[in-house]
Amino acid sequence: MSTTFSDYGQRFAELNSIGQLMHDIALSGDQVKMLGGGNPALIPEVMQAFREQFAALAQDEALTYVMGRYSGPEGDRACLEALAEYFQSRGWPVQPENIVLSNGSQNAFFCLFNLLCGPRQGAMRKLLLPITPEYIGYDDSPIHPGSIVSRRPEIALIGERFFKYRLDLDLHIADDIGALCVSRPTNPTGNVIDDQELELLRQSAAAKGIPLIVDNAYGAPFPNIMAEDIETPWQPGMIMCMSLSKIGLPALRTGIIVADVEIADALRSMNATMNLAPSNLGPAIITPLLRSRKIDALCEQHIRPYYRERTQRALAALEQYAGELPWRVHQPEG
Ligand code: PLP
Repeated sequence: MSTTFSDYGQRFAELNSIGQLMHDIALSGDQVKMLGGGNPALIPEVMQAFREQFAALAQDEALTYVMGRYSGPEGDRACLEALAEYFQSRGWPVQPENIVLSNGSQNAFFCLFNLLCGPRQGAMRKLLLPITPEYIGYDDSPIHPGSIVSRRPEIALIGERFFKYRLDLDLHIADDIGALCVSRPTNPTGNVIDDQELELLRQSAAAKGIPLIVDNAYGAPFPNIMAEDIETPWQPGMIMCMSLSKIGLPALRTGIIVADVEIADALRSMNATMNLAPSNLGPAIITPLLRSRKIDALCEQHIRPYYRERTQRALAALEQYAGELPWRVHQPEG
């Protein structure tokens, strides 16, 4: 007997792009070396710091509540307050009411894309990716097929070996666009659109009265896998998506979304419908690290140097083994 799925159901029942990637990642190991997508690195000093947090939590009375009580649909209150205080100390104009937690940022993109894009009053609102290539995980997130549109980049050649994708500055945003989304740094290229490009996107979105979603999964302040010191504070009109995954906690599935209160409230309702509440475990581990600012030391002393060294090693290997070939790689910026 074959199951009759709805039109939406059929879309999700088929193995999609991100489903294939996650399937491959789960099978990877000694035999299969993933050269594209993969798990974040298990950096010994960082894992040791997390193990210490887990050990402290295991001895703490609070664990009973972490495990035994749902948080509100916006996420653990103590974590939201610690995040707001942490971001404020870095100059972000953020209150706890601007922040919602999710079960990973992938989950947040599903919610955001479907809140902002899709059919409305007989017409179709679309998500615009203003520069591509972009993160494959966006592709299947909108429930309605055909609701993502994208723009090609300009390509700048840099030196003998590098190139860089640049935003096409002739950015016309049609009336049917419901939101813009850009990852910064970008997976898969390591591109970081510069401050002027980001400002152009912000102003263009504001002029249309639509949000600019910035996927900061690899950006600053954490995990800060960035070649340059670039941190862009959240501003009203922007939706900043962050994650604990790339600091080394992908399996705790914790995403952090900073947005205007109206959008944060909508995400909270969607969280309740989809998950009742986000997990408490990631928040319980990260809250002390935010309060003590130890998270900054982990990023600066271990995570950032680790990926910088890996980048140099990959470039050196390319030169060593394929130096004769006419290749270029995207300038590694994040
Ligand atoms: N955004 C980008 C650019 C990513 O590369 C990933 C995962 O690889 C995600 C978001 C989603 O990460 P998570 O759902 O683990 O927070």
